[in-house]
This record gives sequence, C-alpha cells and structure tokens, in this order.
Amino acid sequence: MPGQTHLYVPGPTNVPDRVRCAMDIPQEDWRAVTMPEFTLPLFEDLKKVFKTESGQAFIFPSSGTGAWEAAISNTLSPGDKVLAADIGNFAYLWIDLCQRHKLDVDVIDVDAGEGVPVETFAERLEADKDHKIKAVLVTHNETSTGVTSDVAGVRKIMDAANHPALLYADGVSSIGCIDFRMDEWKVDLAITGSQKGLMLPTGLGIVCASQKALEARKQAQLPRTFFDFEDMIKHNESGNFPYTPAMNLIRGLREALNMLFEEGLENVFARHHRLAEGTRRAVAGWGLKLCAKEPKWNSDTVSAVYVPQGVDGAEVVKHAQQRYKLHLGGGLRKVAGKIFRIGHLGDLNELMLVSPIAGAEMTMRDLGGKVEPGSGVAAACEYWRETTPQNEATRTKTEAA
Ligand code: PLP
Repeated sequence: MPGQTHLYVPGPTNVPDRVRCAMDIPQEDWRAVTMPEFTLPLFEDLKKVFKTESGQAFIFPSSGTGAWEAAISNTLSPGDKVLAADIGNFAYLWIDLCQRHKLDVDVIDVDAGEGVPVETFAERLEADKDHKIKAVLVTHNETSTGVTSDVAGVRKIMDAANHPALLYADGVSSIGCIDFRMDEWKVDLAITGSQKGLMLPTGLGIVCASQKALEARKQAQLPRTFFDFEDMIKHNESGNFPYTPAMNLIRGLREALNMLFEEGLENVFARHHRLAEGTRRAVAGWGLKLCAKEPKWNSDTVSAVYVPQGVDGAEVVKHAQQRYKLHLGGGLRKVAGKIFRIGHLGDLNELMLVSPIAGAEMTMRDLGGKVEPGSGVAAACEYWRETTPQNEATRTKTEAA
C-alpha cells in the first residue's frame, strides 16, 4: 500500500528527524579521550528530565525491562518484602520480575482502569510496624490501561507512616511527557526507556537513583553484573562506561534532550496534556468510554478506549493496520479484545494526532461500530482550535468588546 505508516502505539514513538540525523554517524571510539567532554554534561542534563539534582542517572544498553531489573537488583535482597499493585499489564510484568528475583511481593489487585490504591498502600504501611516492607512500587503511567497514578500521594502516605521503604517509580511512558518530580516526591529509583518520551528508538534503559538508593546498594544481596550500579559509578565518574555503550542512541539522546529543553519541559507537559485532552474529546464524541475509571487517572500519553458494542478490539487493531497502515495499541491481559489504545506521546502535534483519530473512526465504522462519522475528529479539532493561544486571545478580545 502506498503512503506512510501511521505509528500511534504508545511506544515506540515517532523519532524526529533531528534525532535521526544525530544518530546517523560513523561508528566511533567510545574510549576516545574527548568522550568525557560529551558524556559528563549529558549525564547531568539527563537528570533534569527526572527533575533531580541529588540523584544519579545510569544509561544501560537495554529497554525499560532492563531498567526495572537494574533498580531492583541493585537495591534489594532475596526474600525482601515489596508492596505493589497490579493495575495493568506493565505493573504485572514488574511484579513478575520481582517474584522471579525471589522477592516477597504483596500484590494488591485492582480493577482495570484504576490507579495505584493509595489508601490501601497507607493501611499496609501503617500496619508494617517492623518495617519489613523494603520497597514500594508505583507504575506512574500504566500504558496498558491509560492510567496515571499519584506518585506524590504515595510519598505522602509513606512519610505519614514514617516508613523507610524505598520508593520505586516506573516512568517508562511518562518521563519526558508528564510532569515527574524525583526530588520533590523523594522517589528513590525512577525508571524509563528511550523509545517513548525521549523520542529515540528502543535500546536504552535509564535509571535514576537517589542517594538513599545508592546507599542501599551496599547491603543489597541480589546478584547483578550487567546492571551493577557499582561498575557504572566507577566508570561514569570519568565520563566512561564499564562496557560498550550504545553510542548512536546516546548521540540521539543528546539531541532529544536539546529538543526537550528548547521547547521547555513545562511546555512539553502542557502540549501532551492538550493533545491528550483533544483525544479524550474525540472519545466522548464517539460516545465511547475510556478505560481510566475517573478523570484523576486520565493519562496524558495514552488513551485506552472501550470499543463499541459488537466490535472486537483485536479486530480494530488488525483492520487499522491492514486497511489504513495505522498502528494502534491493543488490549492486554484483563482488557484484551475490549479496548484499543491511541498513543499520543513524543514528537507530536494536533494534525498528526488527527490521523489515528480519523483512522480509528473509519475502522470502527468498517467493523459495524455505531460511531457518528466525523464525530471524534470534529470534537478533537474543535477543542484544539478553541484552545490555540491566539484563538483564545481573539475570543477574549471579542467577548470584551
Ligand atoms: N513499563 C511501562 C509502563 C511500559 O509501558 C513498558 C513498555 O511499554 C515497560 C515498562 C517495559 O519496557 P520495555 O518494553 O522497553 O522493556
């Protein structure tokens, strides 16, 4: 089929040309004497995306899963108690990773569409007088259900219970898109990957560790080699790496950070919010519901949409690919077949996002879904038009006149 492929899965995201060009370079000597001039400022700048001054960022050649493993294996010991909630597929996979590392995970099950249950966490922490719980896991943005959880709220209840556990936050589909405040929220291990908000191909697993987490590693007994913070610390200090780094991706990371800083992080968050809100208007225009059960959990990076009656979510994904070259996310685990997902994160603007909204609309109608033609597109576009800053100014002037 001629024409472009439309990639609107919630990661990997579209890689901007500037980043692609920055990576299109001959292979280089990563031990070159000039390398630290490039890497040392990069390590510092990377911390800004996590909003941390006191933390330390580590770049592993891996994916988000590797970053999960690095965070866990560097800070915990076999048998350690972990508090986590199964809020969706990615929270579940992280729990599974912990269990395979012989950690004792207290798993709180919640319905699809809910975020981390802060009140239940508070009860568990209050009851844990001997401080057996060593780790509290929060999936900041659950990509499978389009739900953002309240990391600050979890920190608040941990402090209220005077609980010393480490706080782990999975920011794979939030960091660089949704506000994340590592220092303010006292997150000890923050995790991300390169292929979402950082607008790169998959291949970097990034962990930011607090000083408390770095201290905890001295007692942590879980085995680790590839992901050992110790080796990274030793080599990163002088701007080097313990083993061959993914240099092209790291060169791309430099350019991606430049782009984020040029736009301004707060503007990046506002852009994601506005694009997400337009998508939510489209869903309402279709007369459909989001998987997120309450607005407080709406994700600004991915919208998971319940399909119309009589339509199979898996068919939506398949048909969109085969008929329109449109790639949407499907439903995973508990919501398999019930939803489809639109990723709206990374290098993105309004008209780009019209493509998955129009494509999803046509697909649902092709499959017999009762969706008014143009209803989603009109709702999204009208919201974006009305909230364009210039149009807002004109409206205010007209109203005042
Ligand atoms: N955590 C979240 C929230 C994710 O969305 C993903 C992947 O989509 C992961 C972790 C796992 O990351 P990766 O697939 O890069 O290993």
